[in-house]
This record gives sequence, C-alpha cells and structure tokens, in this order.
Amino acid sequence: MKIGTPKETFRGESRVAMTPDSALQLQKLGYKCLIQSGAGKAAGFSDDAYEAAGAEVVKTAASLWKQADIITKVRQPDSKEIGHLTAEKTLISFFNPASNTEGMEAAKTAGAAVIAMEMVPRISRAQKMDALSSMANIAGYRAVIEAGNNFGRFFTGQITAAGKVPPAKVLIVGAGVAGLAAIGTSTSLGAVTYAFDVRPEVAEQVESMGAEFVYLDFEEDQQDGSATGGYASVSSPEFREAQLAKFRELAPEMDIVITTALIPNRDAPKLWLEDMVQAMKPGSVIIDLAAERGGNVEGTVKDEKIVTENGVTIVGYTDFPSRMATQSSSLFATNIRHMMTDLTPEKDGQIAHNMEDDVIRGATVTYKGEITFPPPPPKVQ
Ligand code: NAD
Repeated sequence: MKIGTPKETFRGESRVAMTPDSALQLQKLGYKCLIQSGAGKAAGFSDDAYEAAGAEVVKTAASLWKQADIITKVRQPDSKEIGHLTAEKTLISFFNPASNTEGMEAAKTAGAAVIAMEMVPRISRAQKMDALSSMANIAGYRAVIEAGNNFGRFFTGQITAAGKVPPAKVLIVGAGVAGLAAIGTSTSLGAVTYAFDVRPEVAEQVESMGAEFVYLDFEEDQQDGSATGGYASVSSPEFREAQLAKFRELAPEMDIVITTALIPNRDAPKLWLEDMVQAMKPGSVIIDLAAERGGNVEGTVKDEKIVTENGVTIVGYTDFPSRMATQSSSLFATNIRHMMTDLTPEKDGQIAHNMEDDVIRGATVTYKGEITFPPPPPKVQ
C-alpha cells in the first residue's frame, strides 16, 4: 500500500506528518511512501531529503490524495481534502472529532476510515503514539523560550563585575504535560520557578523538577481538584477564591507567568484576572497556553501578543508546536509511525485495522461507513 503526506493547508502551519526518517521506518513496514513536493520545506525537510530516504515526491496535493491508500497529516482536513476520501482510504491526523461533526459525516459518507490522533487513549502502551503529549511538551518548552524572548532580563541570577542580577521569578499554572515541560525548561535556565495545580498529587513531580509547589490556605482534604484519569475537575467556589487570593499575593513578585490550566470539554478557567495583570511589574511577561480554549488570563487575545498599559506583555499564540516545526514534525511523524506499526502487525505493507485493539478502536472515529466516536472506555489502563 502507499502512504502519503500532503503539504498542510492551514494558514501558517509549518509542521509535516512525514519526515525522511519516518519514511525510512514506514518502508521497513512494507509501505511505499509519497510526499507532496514542498510539504516538508517549512519544517526544514527538503524534497531531496525525502527522495534520498526512498520516498517518491508527488507534484500536487490532488495527485497525492488520489494515489495514497493511507494519508497522514497534522491538521484536520479541510473540506476540499475531505472530498478526496473514498472507502478504500484511511486518514490519520488530528481531527477534533468532538467539534468536527461535518468532517466526520463527510468521512462516514465516503466510507473512509479516520484515525484521530487526539483520541489515542492515554494508557501506558499508547504513550509512543500520544501526539497530544508530544505537542504539549513542545508548547511548554516553547512558552518559556517565548517568554524569555519578550523579557528584558536574564532568567538566572548572576553576580557580574557590573553588578548583581537577581534571578527571574516564574510561575507556571497547571502542571500537566505542557506545564511540566515549562517547569523543566524554566528551572534549567536558572529561574526561581513556582508551580500550582489543582491536583495535589503533582506537587511531588513539581518539586522533583526543582520548582516550588504553591500551596493554598485551604483545608488539605479539600485541596483536591482531581477528576478521573489524571484530569482536573471544576473547582468549588471556595477553592477558586483561595486560589485567586494566592495568585493576587504572588502577582506583584512574578516576572513571568505561564498558564496551561485546562479542564476536559470546557472552556479554559479564568485564573489570572485583570487586577493581577495590573499588579505585575512593567516588563513582566504572561504566556497563555490556554488561549485556544478561551485563555486562563483576562486580556489574552488569541493568536496575538499585546502589551498592557502598565507594560505587561501577554502572549496568546496558539501555534507553539508549529513555531518549532522541525522538532514537532519529528515527534508527530514518530507518533504516526508507531501507530502504523500497530496497524501493520505482519510488516507486509497492508493495513490491518483491528477494531478489537483498544488503542486503534479508541482513536478510530469513522470506519466502514459508521461514525465510531465517541469510543467505549479502554479495557486496559
Ligand atoms: P490538561 O491539558 O487537561 O490540563 C493541564 C493542567 O491544568 C492539568 O494538570 C490540570 O490539573 C490543570 N488545571 C486545571 N484546572 C486548573 C486550575 N483551576 N488551576 C490550576 N491548574 C489547573 O492536562 P494534560 O497535560 O493533558 O494532562 C492530564 C493528565 O493526563 C496528567 O495527569 C498527565 O500526567 C496524564 N497523562 C497521562 C498519559 C499516559 O498515561 N499516557 C499521557 C499524557 C498525560
């Protein structure tokens, strides 16, 4: 079978779902690899590099979609791309099934199989295919780099001949995958790093990475915002008040705030309010990684960088992984390649779409003319 990757069509998207390295690995599974000419350019992969890896460079997107049996891409397909799907084809990409009814209906009508990468169950066996985590890791890292780029001082403290420089103080709100990556990057740059999460079980992880966990003045047995599967639930009003009071206390001291707080299937909770932004020093920087879902910060403008009247920069970019397209393409392409390994048990270049497999079933959103989303809960944890 042929597996092909088109150039991303979403404006500004620099990632690509196949790299020369992943093409080599896919060929070992028995597939012939196709890549649209220029698809890897923005991520630093030339047509020549793909050709050297044994992939065939195809001139147009239309020809690639026509020839490929399996199409791998990063962003959910646009309406024109969806139109290329047929009953013989399998699409593997992010698909946003919960809010992409139109796309799912179109794929169902075409009879195509669609594997949505954000639906890979978060069980140990599937970690190697967990593209949400790969991308969140990059977003967390890049958030710190972006903060540094907008901050006028060092992260680390220094004693120089020209004077003593205090270390920057960084607060990370939300210690999931992105938050932990941000903590690791911030501490390794030498900033004094604080972190808060509603799930108290992450305190140990935060501390093991060299940051200080921010505790609230709240009864310990009530300080638990955990829901099932390691996700957060909505905080009680009392807990929220205690959290906001603590943030109010910290705001004047923090040089950089990175917010990553999310609750599944909801808008991002507003946690860094206007008065906190106003209490920050001029030159301070906020990176709101929750901007895509409405933002954790009052004043965030999605996809923009603004500077408030009191001189605080608020960054609401939603494309941090794409801003590190070489790295994110490599990790995403590796996630896809692992998915393909599981879909090709015989390594014979033939897809075996085993709906009895928890991971494959969990991620499949349309199959043989049916919508198979949402999936049943996984049997294995
Ligand atoms: P997420 O993106 O849903 O949320 C980010 C963080 O925000 C979470 O840690 C959440 O607790 C926190 N948060 C929510 N409301 C908050 C508030 N009011 N104040 C402060 N923080 C708040 O999370 P994620 O990165 O997807 O990770 C969720 C969980 O899944 C974690 O426990 C993670 O370890 C786990 N996980 C498991 C696997 C695996 O087993 N394969 C893979 C990835 C993640």
